[in-house]
Amino acid sequence: MLSRPPKLIPMITPLIDPFARTIDYLRVSVTDRCDFRCVYCMSENMTFLPKKELLTLEELDRMCSAFIRMGVKKLRITGGEPLVRRGIMTFFEAMARHLKSGDLEELTLTTNGSQLEKYAAQLAGFGIKRVNVSLDTLDEEKFARVTRWGRLPQVLRGIEAAQAAGLRVKLNAVALKDFNEDELFTLTDWCAERDIDLTFIEVMPMGDLGNEDRIGQFWSLKDLRAQLETRGSLTDLPDRTGGPARYVRVDETGQKIGFITPLSHNFCESCNRVRITCTGEIYTCLGQEGHSDLRGPLRASENDAVLEDAIRHAITLKPKGHDFDYSRQQVDGQVSRHMSHTGG
Ligand code: SAM
Ligand code: SF4
Repeated sequence: MLSRPPKLIPMITPLIDPFARTIDYLRVSVTDRCDFRCVYCMSENMTFLPKKELLTLEELDRMCSAFIRMGVKKLRITGGEPLVRRGIMTFFEAMARHLKSGDLEELTLTTNGSQLEKYAAQLAGFGIKRVNVSLDTLDEEKFARVTRWGRLPQVLRGIEAAQAAGLRVKLNAVALKDFNEDELFTLTDWCAERDIDLTFIEVMPMGDLGNEDRIGQFWSLKDLRAQLETRGSLTDLPDRTGGPARYVRVDETGQKIGFITPLSHNFCESCNRVRITCTGEIYTCLGQEGHSDLRGPLRASENDAVLEDAIRHAITLKPKGHDFDYSRQQVDGQVSRHMSHTGG
């Protein structure tokens, strides 16, 4: 008897850009709103998009599922503050089906931590393993100043809840001159004591924030690293995520520390990611203005073929790299949108 022919699995060509980079990482901003107003991210009086502009949770599901069919293996949910979007747990639960099927390798989020106390257990229940929490200072008064609206104890309780739920926490701290320079070792030790990974980020010229002084805020991670080296020796680690982060190990303690240095180090050659805004625009480079609309194609037809064509076309436009440059003591390559628009 003839054996049954193997089941035909439709072959979908992976997303490869013109510079031969495979796109397998998608970051999605699910809202432009936030319960904080961090000074480097938003102006004090932000105008937010009307709700009807946003992709609905169902549309976000269709969008992300299309990318996953086309080879995306890692999905990061961000914002604005993703956990303030109403009904967002339904969306995480829906995305968890791709984890269960094995099509998606990792579902994760970047959050300011303010709502983690409420949601950490549910997130862990959906199969989320890791969460990035943004925290620049452990000083309550400074925290209130840099976030304008935030309360540190609430975030600290969120981090505790995340760890108690079994989530691996990574702390992202924006390096800000004359702001958290004096907390370098406090932050580092605080993380080491709690087994929390730590990554420093250079401030990027995103959005017109009125009177914020970009050059004044900029604390080069080369300097930061040199300060860390006054206390211990650092070994560069080969770990690469296709993104802008580089990692070192503190030899004396074994602690791993990351540096995201879009300005003093160019990371574009290994970029594997694209970003979707909450209105369904795709930005194939964080540091460029170029983008394409995917909401139109998504809404044009219930058949995802139109959307998939639009996604493929957008990937053909991914630029080689960004043009941020502070080296001439002026902000070159600045992009006009806020980080909360594209999602950090
Ligand atoms: N609200 C969430 C949070 O704060 O983690 C997610 C969105 S936020 C835009 C993502 C990341 O972008 C945060 O770690 C934040 O510190 C970072 N960020 C915002 N504006 C930035 C800027 N101008 N330069 C560098 N990082 C920035
Ligand atoms: Fe909100 Fe995150 Fe931007 Fe701060 S960095 S204002 S928490 S979106």
